[in-house]
Amino acid sequence: TTALYWYRQDLRLADLPAMRAAIDNGLKLIPCYVFDDAAAGQWSPGGASRWWLHHSLAALDTELAKRGSPLVVRRGETARVLADLAAQTGAEAVYCSEAIDPWARELQSQVADALWETGVQLEARPSALLFHPGTVCTQAGDPYRVFTPFWRACLQQPSPAEPLSAASGKHFVEHDLDSLPHDDWQLLPRNPDWAAGWDELWSPGATGARRALQHFLDNALDSYAEGRDFPAARSTSRLSPHLHFGEISPRQVWHAVQALPEGQDKPAAKFLAEVGWREFCHQLLYFNPEIPEKPFKADFGEMPWLADQTHLQAWQRGRTGYPIVDAGMRELWQTGFMHNRVRMIVASFLTKHLLLPWQWGEQWFWDTLVDADLANNSCGWQWVAGCGADAAPYFRIFNPILQGRKFDPDGEYVRQWVPEIASLPDKYLHAPWEAPAKILAEAGVELGETYPEPLVDHKEARETALQAYGVISG
Ligand code: FAD
Repeated sequence: TTALYWYRQDLRLADLPAMRAAIDNGLKLIPCYVFDDAAAGQWSPGGASRWWLHHSLAALDTELAKRGSPLVVRRGETARVLADLAAQTGAEAVYCSEAIDPWARELQSQVADALWETGVQLEARPSALLFHPGTVCTQAGDPYRVFTPFWRACLQQPSPAEPLSAASGKHFVEHDLDSLPHDDWQLLPRNPDWAAGWDELWSPGATGARRALQHFLDNALDSYAEGRDFPAARSTSRLSPHLHFGEISPRQVWHAVQALPEGQDKPAAKFLAEVGWREFCHQLLYFNPEIPEKPFKADFGEMPWLADQTHLQAWQRGRTGYPIVDAGMRELWQTGFMHNRVRMIVASFLTKHLLLPWQWGEQWFWDTLVDADLANNSCGWQWVAGCGADAAPYFRIFNPILQGRKFDPDGEYVRQWVPEIASLPDKYLHAPWEAPAKILAEAGVELGETYPEPLVDHKEARETALQAYGVISG
């Protein structure tokens, strides 16, 4: 007998507990995917994520086609599409991975109810995390709100189970069912194609994910603990979009790290702790479904944010006059990615120097990041803005000049993304306005013409931000 496998954010073949459950129940699978943008509402994927999703689905389709069972892609209201497909194929059940995002959980329960009416069972199993929300709690039985004790408690749990092997051809139904052709997916940008060239930067899909992990473990893990804060160093894994779309499971990552030869314990522990942040953010979202929109610390609802659209635009376009901020925003626009250290710097700049609401920055990241992820993005923004669980205190205001000098000391990162000031000597690269006129002229820099003057003065902006914070803190 037949079942549908409803793909969601788990675009892989290995380590899918729900797929394994179906196989163990003697069922043969038809894999499917439903475009249902209305279900996600304001959190339907942004532009960069849609580019990734297109290529990830195409890669999955290729793998499944090799097994005689191409991905059946349909558009419409999920419950109806699945019910129709079940009726068409005689499927007696639908299997899927358990959702974490609030809208996706709601969709899952609607789908379960609607299918039930038609006599079809929905079976969901967790697959996105090492520790499903609720399995690691405080002694009082509450979800953790602070990362360090959370991760310590996770590490005291039994080690996550070995990843499950990939399903093979015999587990799928050979079919030639109607499926939306790739050209009709409507995910890729046209006119202009701002993602032209991204194929050389990224390899969406499970094979690309495995390669990215292997490349990181072979070449970068050793220097991860020291190198991970330096944006020019390429010391991090760049696994975030692969993890977001479920092209690789955190259990696969965990066990690949455990299998390393001894002697790499320190960088391995540091790396797994970052994967732990992902776990932490997801359990926060699970238990606090409002955090993409509302501050975790309610008093931040009173924060007197400004609403300056011109400042927002300058930030989005990488034209704030602060080179490390502009470099990050341009890296984001041109590649769909930004290094974590620089994400913190640009987010601090938006919320503290420009006093713009963190939700505005979150929204821009949502549209432009290939790894845009509801849990990690809302936690990241709330952490920097000071209103999140276990957040940096609001008065910790990054100085973008010192951050630049510390984490991009020889200016490699800034010179790559802000080429119009590349000829400035290192000494002035992170604060061009401090350079004497002669040096600016020699470097071909005319402030206000070839590169913007600083949008705000650091010291003044800092004072204003602290005053604004005073409004809510007492
Ligand atoms: P690595 O350093 O190699 O880390 C390995 C994995 O751990 C990552 O792939 C990611 O899944 C996870 N991870 C690492 N750091 C964090 C973190 N601070 N919080 C949660 N998980 C983490 N990450 C996203 O995946 N999607 C987002 O939309 C996102 N938005 C962010 C917004 C802001 C303002 C900030 C400050 C951070 C945000 N992050 C987000 C977290 C982090 O910047 C990225 O996960 C990281 O830069 C991805 O690069 P990497 O894969 O090379 O990371």
